[in-house]
Amino acid sequence: MKKQSLIDQHNRHLNYLRVSVTDRCNLRCSYCLPTSPFAKLPHEEILRYEEILRLIRLAVSLGISKLRVTGGEPLIRKGIYNFLEELGTIKGLTDISLTTNGILLKDHINQIQTAGIGRINISLDTLKRDKYQQITGRDRFLKVWDSIQAALQMGFEPIKINVVALKGINDDELQDLAHLSFDYPFHIRFIEYMPIGNVEVNPRQNLLTPEIKKHLSALGKLVPIARDVDDGPAERFRFEGAPGEIGFISALSHHFCHQCNRLRLTASGQLRTCLLSSYQVDLKNPLRLGYSDNQLAQILLEAVQHKTREHNIAKKTQTCISSRMSAIGG
Ligand code: SAM
Repeated sequence: MKKQSLIDQHNRHLNYLRVSVTDRCNLRCSYCLPTSPFAKLPHEEILRYEEILRLIRLAVSLGISKLRVTGGEPLIRKGIYNFLEELGTIKGLTDISLTTNGILLKDHINQIQTAGIGRINISLDTLKRDKYQQITGRDRFLKVWDSIQAALQMGFEPIKINVVALKGINDDELQDLAHLSFDYPFHIRFIEYMPIGNVEVNPRQNLLTPEIKKHLSALGKLVPIARDVDDGPAERFRFEGAPGEIGFISALSHHFCHQCNRLRLTASGQLRTCLLSSYQVDLKNPLRLGYSDNQLAQILLEAVQHKTREHNIAKKTQTCISSRMSAIGG
């Protein structure tokens, strides 16, 4: 029998799964969490680790080879380090990475490395302690900076620093953040703000990549880096003489849908075929109703056929995606 795999209608081979293990977070970032009170997912609605692992194994059998663990904040979920270790034992997963706000990273960095996580993305939108508190609602800048330094010492490679660029919030610091690439081998990645959920940030505060590049032009010429087959959506550059890199993730100004190879599994077991679409398919209930691997595989294969050719977030007809970034996983 022909082996089935995750290929969508537009002939994109989906080999990258991003798994949100929790909708909870220990930060309250203004651009991520809703302004109005929101209910956290009840515990029973969140997939158990064994359920997540079953779905991951299944997805791997259908062609997933890259996996990112995200959230919410993944490191606050109890049992996360055992889960990461389990992931490391799944044959066929050749690349396992983690996105974290870094607060708990330093204290558990050995366990994370032992589990086989090589690549870490750490979110940091400012280098100022007071502004960090203003953006995230918590005074944790020093902890995060310590974690970044610890990750460097431990040899994680690359260490990517995710910066969501926003007017009136951190546009005065874009050069300082980019300058880190001269001092460290970090990949500083500027991310265009995506309007997901009803958050404090006004979509007009969004800074698009061309504007961000203008801010950085005073630091020198950005030299493009040739793309690798395994590269994500970031456009990659380096300032001459810098050990680190600069990346731009331009979901709005220069969408990369034609090369999108991603699927997302939310904390509540919904499969999302596009971050910027509200379309999702439930896997939790079928799992809990005792569906066989074959039946679950059919749901996955069918869902990917609904992956849209491209998102329409930049068009006026759709301004905001339902759900929260913290529940979907960025
Ligand atoms: N808690 C982890 C962290 O802080 O990295 C992982 C989850 S967080 C949702 C993943 C990434 O999404 C972070 O880099 C965050 O800055 C980014 N993010 C959150 N809301 C966003 C938005 N509306 N637009 C663009 N990026 C966003």
